[in-house]
Amino acid sequence: MSLSSSRVAVVTGAARGIGAATAVRLAADGMAVAVLDLDEAACAPVVDAITGAGGRAMPVSADVSDSTRVQAAVARIAEELGPPTVLVNNAGVLRDNLLFKMTEDDWDTVLDVHLKGAFLMTRAVEKYMTQQNWGRIINLSSISALGNRGQANYSAAKAGLQGFTKTIAIELGKFGITANVIGPGFVVTEMTRATAERMGMSFDTLKQHMAGEIPVRRVGEPEDIAHVVSFLASENAGYVSGQVIYVSGGPQG
Ligand code: NAD
Repeated sequence: MSLSSSRVAVVTGAARGIGAATAVRLAADGMAVAVLDLDEAACAPVVDAITGAGGRAMPVSADVSDSTRVQAAVARIAEELGPPTVLVNNAGVLRDNLLFKMTEDDWDTVLDVHLKGAFLMTRAVEKYMTQQNWGRIINLSSISALGNRGQANYSAAKAGLQGFTKTIAIELGKFGITANVIGPGFVVTEMTRATAERMGMSFDTLKQHMAGEIPVRRVGEPEDIAHVVSFLASENAGYVSGQVIYVSGGPQG
């Protein structure tokens, strides 16, 4: 049995999109995977895909911004799957608006899910990682961390995640724990589909436009991100920590 067959991973926002592809990929790598999202029933297709391929997975419902639910969910995962030592903070929402139209609710919702959610999940999972003297934390930021019109809330949350990650990389390194950030560019998911709708254009038109702007001349697929998560979560990635890796078909920043 390889080491990764004994690892337990938690992927938040895993019912669809990048989180779903990541859950499937980590399971294919041999990990048992907690597929965590707001609605447990919505996690079922991802869990079925993993178990159908011979892997181990469980659906878990929790709002990552709710401390009590997070603690209960992580305790349940530890009991049913085993101590979690891989955490992918992927859950996310958009509340895009130009600053003068951005409400406090738009701000709080986005900061709560992305930034506070990552903090709460990491704090809850950390003790299992330190006990095992091994851990991999992978946080989903975005190229929007560098600034993007209409996304003051999202950009602040995604930039905040980078500072959070570098700090925990420093604090937790001595326990064999690494923490890294992936900053995706445009990836085809329900999130970007909704953006096209909000902009009043078809998803195909937006994808075509974006592909023309991206150096590799294509848009990203969830598997492009899952592939990098897989590397950062692997046994051999133990000397990579506190890094921000943009996965966007070209250079950023
Ligand atoms: P998506 O909207 O398709 O999926 C997000 C998932 O998160 C959904 O299943 C949703 O139910 C879940 N979620 C939302 N709020 C939650 C909460 N409070 N608790 C638990 N789960 C919650 O999004 P996606 O495109 O797959 O994005 C995944 C991550 O990647 C997000 O953090 C996003 O900001 C980031 N990202 C996406 C892109 C892109 O182009 N799609 C680009 C850069 C960064």
